[in-house]
Formats: sequence, structure tokens, C-alpha cells
Amino acid sequence: AGAVIGLDIGGTKTRGVRFEDGRAVADESVGSSNVQNVSREEAALHLAELFARIGGGTVAQVYAGAGGIDTDADAAALTALIAPHVPGARITVVHDSRLLLAAGGASTGVAVIGGTGSAAWGRNSRGEEARAGGWGYLLGDEGSGYWLGREAVRHSLRRMNQGLAPDELTTALLASCGVADPNKLIALFHSPDTGRRYWAERARLVVDAAAAGHTASRELVDQAGRDLAALALQTVRQLGIDGPVILGSGLGMNVPRLQESFRSTLAAAGITDVRVLDRDPVFGVLQLVAEQG
Ligand code: BGC
Repeated sequence: AGAVIGLDIGGTKTRGVRFEDGRAVADESVGSSNVQNVSREEAALHLAELFARIGGGTVAQVYAGAGGIDTDADAAALTALIAPHVPGARITVVHDSRLLLAAGGASTGVAVIGGTGSAAWGRNSRGEEARAGGWGYLLGDEGSGYWLGREAVRHSLRRMNQGLAPDELTTALLASCGVADPNKLIALFHSPDTGRRYWAERARLVVDAAAAGHTASRELVDQAGRDLAALALQTVRQLGIDGPVILGSGLGMNVPRLQESFRSTLAAAGITDVRVLDRDPVFGVLQLVAEQG
């Protein structure tokens, strides 16, 4: 059998892993090729770059989990961008949340993405599926990196309106954006020079300020954990299960305070089998390919 290529396409990056005989032999990351958030041209360029690095030789199958895949037409559009790089290969495109459950070694349960965007998806033993959120940054993405970055801006603007001096979070935000005054954040936020990725990257400032003891930042991180837990809870209830709930992606895997708030919110609702993913969702691909037969 030829190689299997797994792709995890998020709002910020595309990670591609080439598996041969069940082993990862190449692992590369390029910019996002999520067609909900970048132009087709940009997505195509990033995919070309990725396949140039990992795509040579015979590829039997490409299995991609991508954000912004909500309809068959979305999946077909992404499939068309992948196809020219892997002639003859079987190509499967699914919503990115599906990789996560498999990467956690589970076939039933609920997966929650806390990354640039957010979403929850799950499946029960009867094969029923349910999803919460994953509507993109303009409609939702509560508890995501973008949400935290935007809240940092809103926090700073609120204080400016109240005539308060910049606090730790605002000071860090202004420095990171290269502007001297909170008032300039409004135009910067709406400028074509910044976007979803830019603001999601600012989530780190909130996480760092929270770790340094800044009260408002702590509250924002806790709120993100509660919002992600709410997505999980909705899905768990709809499916009539009590776990496992698997939290993954950049924020989900790397922010202990957020994990704590996520866990305690779920525990208060009686959900205690909560796991944090310890590897990239792309490593769920082999299990999904095996299940697919
Ligand atoms: C996208 C979803 C995706 C989620 C997590 C959201 O912005 O709209 O499709 O599942 O981010 O990557």
C-alpha cells in the first residue's frame, strides 16, 4: 500500500503528516488552507508548498480534517484543491473536529477544539452525531484564540472609554500591535492588514497576563474554559452520553488555567471523564482510515 497523508487544516496553519506502514515519515506545517478564512488562491499556494515537501511518490490516500467544512460543497471545494497534488489517491475531507476524537483514541465521545476557532463534535455508540458551535469567528467561536484576542481589545477600549490608564493587558497588547494608544486599536482591528489569525495570536497575551496574576485576564481565560465546556455539554446531552470529552488544539492543549475551568464546569454538570489531547489531531488520521476500511 502507498503512503497515507493526514492533513489538519485549522484557522492558522495546515499540518501535514505522511505515514508509511503506519509510521510518520514526514511532518510539515504551512499557512492555513481553510477556505472559509483564506482565499482559494492562498489555500492553493499553501497546499502546493505542503505537498512539495511531503507529497512525492505514491500516495494511496489523503485524509483531511478542516475547519470551515460544513456542507458537501465545502468538502468538494477543498478536495479539488488537494487532488492535483496526488493523482489517483483517494481523498477524504471531514470537519476538523472529527480528527480530534480519533487522536484521543476514542470512537465515541465528544471532541472540543479550542484553537484559532472553536467547535465541539461527538458521536455515541448508536452512531448518532451532534455538533455545537464551529460557526466561524463572525458568528461564534466562543472560547477560541480569536475570541480571547478580541476580548483583549474590547477590554482595552472599555478602559479607555472610562478614562482609565492602560493596565498590564493593554500595555502588552499595544506593544504587540505596535501602537501607542488604545484608540488606534479600533482602526487596526478593522484594517485589512489584520484578521482572524492576527487577533488569535494575541490570545497569548491574555494567557500570559493571567499567569502573571492580572485579574481581568484571569477572568477572560476562565470564561473561555466555561464557553468551551458549554459547547461540550450541549453535545454530550444531545447524544445522551457522559463522556469522554476530549479537549484539543493550541489553546486547549497548552493553557492549564483554561483546562481547569473547562474541567470544573463539566464536573459541576456531572461529566468527569475529561481528557486533554497530548498530540496533534492529525495523528487521528490512521484510526479514521482504518475505520473507513
Ligand atoms: C470554524 C469551524 C472549525 C473551528 C475549529 C471555526 O472557526 O468555523 O469549522 O471547526 O473553527 O477549528
